[in-house]
Amino acid sequence: MRTKIVAGNWKMNNDKDATKKLIKSLDKSIKDLSLKNTRVIVAPTFVNLSSAVKKAKKSKIEVVAQNMHQAKNGAYTGEISADMLKAIGIKTVILGHSERRTYFNETDAALAEKVDAVLENKLETIFCFGELLEDRKSDNHFAVVESQLSNALFHLEAKDWKSIILAYEPVWAIGTGETASPEQAQEMHAFIRSIIEKKYNKEVADGVSILYGGSVKPANAEEIFSKPDVDGGLIGGAALHVDDFKAIIVAI
Ligand code: 13P
Repeated sequence: MRTKIVAGNWKMNNDKDATKKLIKSLDKSIKDLSLKNTRVIVAPTFVNLSSAVKKAKKSKIEVVAQNMHQAKNGAYTGEISADMLKAIGIKTVILGHSERRTYFNETDAALAEKVDAVLENKLETIFCFGELLEDRKSDNHFAVVESQLSNALFHLEAKDWKSIILAYEPVWAIGTGETASPEQAQEMHAFIRSIIEKKYNKEVADGVSILYGGSVKPANAEEIFSKPDVDGGLIGGAALHVDDFKAIIVAI
């Protein structure tokens, strides 16, 4: 059975106090949930990661990073390395978010290097990808997703996929209130699994958790999560509100 995951990507939100407060209230509100085979993740900003890790220590919440640089160290002003993240107890890193690709020019090639750095450091990644609205309108969405995955991930060996979680986030659905329909999500997730099976084998394809992201809310989470190839969600806006995030966790 694949692991289910509900991950909150807090993006550039929540200062130190708000971070600690939200972790505390989330901990309290999910304490009594059984969460069998389900991981609950939050990704605060870098500057609050350390205190978030401490705050979440005895809880069911895992704290992850939103990004990581591929180099071990060096003259990369403003960047953060795997060693620095590991030193504060981080085990998982989000990579390839569309906001990183769009605003910070992260390319598939750079992401391939980041994925390699994740694996070399025995970390895990939540690897994000997804098509733009114009790709979908021109019926190129499958081709775009296939090239994003093959460019950044298909150089990996089958065994490496134990450290990979995928997050399909169609860019047109991020922060827009417009969600992919459960059918659109299922169709894409099944396609993703099929190309992984073709490249590797059924075991790898069946083992990888594929999250959906893009305007997931309490009102639509259950239907999206009910689809067989959707193993959870990467949640933006709704993860900033404890009641909404809890409702999404309950829906898994
Ligand atoms: P929203 O849930 O706000 O659409 O954001 C999705 C997202 O980008 C998560 O990484």
